[in-house]
Amino acid sequence: MSKLTIDDLSLKGKRVLMRVDFNVPLNDKLEVTDDNRIQAALPSIKKIINSGGKAILMSHLGRPKGKVDEAYRMAPAAKQLAKLLGKNVLILKDCVGKEVEQAIANMKDGDVAMLENLRFHEGETKNDPEFAKQLSALGDIYVNDAFGTAHRAHASTEGVTKFFKQSAAGYLIQKELQYLGGAIDNPKHPFVAILGGAKISGKIDVIENLLDKVDSILIGGGMAYTFFKAQGLSIGKSLLEEDKIELAKDVLQKAAAKKVNFVLPVDNIIAQEISDTAETKVTNDANVPDGWLGVDIGPKTLAKFQDILKAAKTIVWNGPMGVFETDQFAKGTMSIGELLADVTDKGAISVIGGGDSAAAVAKAGLKDRITHVSTGGGASLEFLGGIQLPGIVALSDK
Ligand code: AMP
Repeated sequence: MSKLTIDDLSLKGKRVLMRVDFNVPLNDKLEVTDDNRIQAALPSIKKIINSGGKAILMSHLGRPKGKVDEAYRMAPAAKQLAKLLGKNVLILKDCVGKEVEQAIANMKDGDVAMLENLRFHEGETKNDPEFAKQLSALGDIYVNDAFGTAHRAHASTEGVTKFFKQSAAGYLIQKELQYLGGAIDNPKHPFVAILGGAKISGKIDVIENLLDKVDSILIGGGMAYTFFKAQGLSIGKSLLEEDKIELAKDVLQKAAAKKVNFVLPVDNIIAQEISDTAETKVTNDANVPDGWLGVDIGPKTLAKFQDILKAAKTIVWNGPMGVFETDQFAKGTMSIGELLADVTDKGAISVIGGGDSAAAVAKAGLKDRITHVSTGGGASLEFLGGIQLPGIVALSDK
C-alpha cells in the first residue's frame, strides 16, 4: 500500500485519534443489534492499546443533522466495544471542546475513549476546517479505519488530516483495499460481476468500470427491467428508469464491443403487488405481462447464473436480485449467496460490496464462507466504480 499504515507508526504513549465506523443498527431499547462494524475495528484498536497508545475513537451514528439527538448517542456502541474488548471504555459527552480535551489528558497508556457522535456538530459533514482543527487537538497522530465513510470528505475523514503530520490507514481499510482492489485490479479469470439492486443510475460507474475488467456481468434486480425496455421487451409495471433507457442501450453496445458476456435474466418471478401474501407466477421468458411486476429472478436465470459462477475464479457481487426484504421474493438473492459460498469453498475468490447483499449473506449465515464482505456499501460501490475515495486519498504517503 502506498499510504502510511498503522504498522508504520510509533504508538507508544501517543494519543491516537482514530476514525471508526460504528454506525451500527440499534433497537428501540438502544441496544446494538449487529456489531459487525465494531468487530471489524477491533484489530486496529487492539494494536493501539497493546502498543501502549491511547485509543481515542470517533464515529458518526445515523443522521442527527448537526444537533444532539438522544437516539443517536455513541454510548450503546461504546458499551458493546467494552464488552468485546473486556475492558473499560471512557464514554465522552462531546467530541470537541475543553472538557473532552481534559478527559483525554487524564487517559493512561492503553486506555480507550469513545467521543460523542460527530454528526451532533454541523461541521462534520460540512468538512468545516475549524471543527476539523478542534478534533485534531485530541490526538498526536491520526488513523482512519472507517472504510464505510471513506467516500465522504468530512471533517473526521478528510479535513482533520490537514492538521496532522502522520495520517495512517488502519487494518480494516487496508483489508478492504486489499480485497476490493485485488479483485478488480489483479483478478483470476474468469472474473464475474453480479450486479443487482433497484436502479441502473446507482450502479452505472461500477458497470462501466467493470466492463474493462470482467469476463461476464450478471444482472438481476430492478435494474434489469430498464435493460429489457431498451431491448424492446415488455416489462408490465416493473421498475423502470425511463430516462436511463438510452444509457442501458449504450451499456449493451459497449459490452458487446468489449466482448463481455452481459447476461440479463431469462425469466422472472412476478407479482401484482409487493407484499408477503401477493400471488406470484414464474414467466416463461424475460417478458413481464401487463399489470404484473418483476420481483425476483426466475429458476432458469438462476440455473444460467449457476453455470457461469461454477467456472468463475473471481466474483464480485453488489445488489440484491429481487425485492429480497419480502421473504417470498428473496429466493434469487439468497440462492446467489449460497452459490457464492459454494464456489468459494472450491477455491474461488468472492467479494461482496457491502449493503443489501452483505445483509443477505449475513442473514443466511454464509458470511464466513465468503472471501471478503465489505463493511462499506457506498464506499465499496464508489471504489468498484473506479472513483478515488477522499478519506483514503487524504492519508499520508509512505
Ligand atoms: P440498491 O440500493 O440500488 O442496491 O437497491 C436495493 C433495493 O433494490 C432493495 O431495497 C430491493 O428491494 C430493490 N429491488 C431489487 N429488485 C427489485 C425489483 N425487481 N423491483 C423493485 N425493487 C427491487
